Amino acid sequence: MSKKIIIAIDGPAASGKSSVAKYLATRLGFTYLDTGAMYRAITYLALKHDVVNDHDAIVKLVKNIDLQLKFENGITHVFLNGEDVTPFIRTPEVNEKVSEVSKIPEVRNELVNIQRRLGDNVNLVAEGRDTTTVVFPNADLKIYLTADLHERANRRFDEYKEKGTRISFDEVKSNLKKRDKIDSQRSVSPLSKAEDAFVLDTTDLTIEEEIQKIIQKVEQIKLNKKIEV
Ligand code: C5P
Repeated sequence: MSKKIIIAIDGPAASGKSSVAKYLATRLGFTYLDTGAMYRAITYLALKHDVVNDHDAIVKLVKNIDLQLKFENGITHVFLNGEDVTPFIRTPEVNEKVSEVSKIPEVRNELVNIQRRLGDNVNLVAEGRDTTTVVFPNADLKIYLTADLHERANRRFDEYKEKGTRISFDEVKSNLKKRDKIDSQRSVSPLSKAEDAFVLDTTDLTIEEEIQKIIQKVEQIKLNKKIEV
């Protein structure tokens, strides 16, 4: 049995996966893997090259990328072909197209390979849509994080306000709804709850309460694996 621990967290858009995963990784000293940031980076690149609706051109792009993630001071910096694209991957334009780009099987293949390499032989907290089902099916702890659509839209709208992005609450809510639909209905690696995932509905929970529940499970895993607590 590996002495490394993999925690995988999936769930719909803006369900709080990133906040929980970052907090857990920092607290436990684990590597943090934001798989959504990778799909966002490819989408940004496709928009920049004006090929976001061109399947073949996107496949060509993804096969020739150098994608690096660096988690520092609570932020995942994404370097695409050497350029720090972090400020450009969470815009409304990328949000609008990312789920379409993420449907492309070749894109998923390339990114899943990179994700598995990054997760090789480290203690890891990974989050996304298919980390519990496809990327790390043998994860030690699988969590399906969810919350009411309205509550999720509220949280995301507040983040936009903080950043000064001009967008209405209704636009935010309808983008989340649209992405959830595409992400859970696509034919390749759709968002779904892994059979053995622990479901955490965060609608009425504070982040501290969520973390507490997860940490209890991690402590149990460490005991079972005989890893020093
Ligand atoms: O997690 P985040 O909202 O940043 O993800 C952006 C989009 O990337 C999702 O809506 C989904 O289309 C795609 N994604 C995916 N598989 C993952 C992570 C993200 O398809 N593992």
